[in-house]
Amino acid sequence: MKLNIAHLYPDLLNLYGDRGNIQCFRKRLEWRGIECEVTQYLQGDTIDFSDVDIVLLGGGSDREQEIVCEELKKIKDDFKEYVENDGVVLAVCGGYQLLGKYYKTNTKSIEGLGILDIYTEWEPERLIQNIILESDLFDMPIVGFENHGGRTYIGNHTPLGKVFYGLGNIGKGDFEGVVYKNVIATYLHGPLLPKNPQVCDYLLKKALDRKYGTDVEFAPLEDEMEKAANNYIYARYSNKGNVLQENIKKRL
Ligand code: GLN
Repeated sequence: MKLNIAHLYPDLLNLYGDRGNIQCFRKRLEWRGIECEVTQYLQGDTIDFSDVDIVLLGGGSDREQEIVCEELKKIKDDFKEYVENDGVVLAVCGGYQLLGKYYKTNTKSIEGLGILDIYTEWEPERLIQNIILESDLFDMPIVGFENHGGRTYIGNHTPLGKVFYGLGNIGKGDFEGVVYKNVIATYLHGPLLPKNPQVCDYLLKKALDRKYGTDVEFAPLEDEMEKAANNYIYARYSNKGNVLQENIKKRL
């Protein structure tokens, strides 16, 4: 078995360790004896989505997102078709925003792929801090680091999780990210996957199911260190969750 991972515009979208997500995908496949090929796509490259099993779209600054926006226009239809055909995508922060209709900054409006029915609008106060989510998809909390000026309005989409500690999609400490078909879109950097092995395995399993059928062997890993890393963050904030929620309510 083999999965092909497409890393889109890694030279432009690579904030706060997003590249580490690729290493995590690769390692967790390797530990299970599954082959993995990572292809980096740069500006001007043609992408054949029929040969792709997982797409990673990382985070970037407003300036870099503007450049990527021009590239995305060229692959918009193929990318959308890939998602609608259950293609697996992990989109982080700037990448998450670009899956939506637009990202309006203080100076311009950056067109998105329109794959998700969401939009993002910039506000001067940046949302920067550790964040913890509770998600119906997982027993373990999802932990990470958020740093964004954009507020993402997700309409009727399903969020990735409820914010236990942190600010989330619109800075109000309610919900974070989006799950749509086999797409996980989130503001969580860190990188996200090494300390959230449950999220990594969820995406890998979806990609394997799509390619090889649902009865492929995908044994759980021990994850002693990964769980300890996740729990370290959770434990650090576990008794502060409600305090932060109260502070946010007061600020609104
Ligand atoms: N430029 C976007 C924002 O500030 C995304 C930043 C990021 O990817 N961290 O909202």
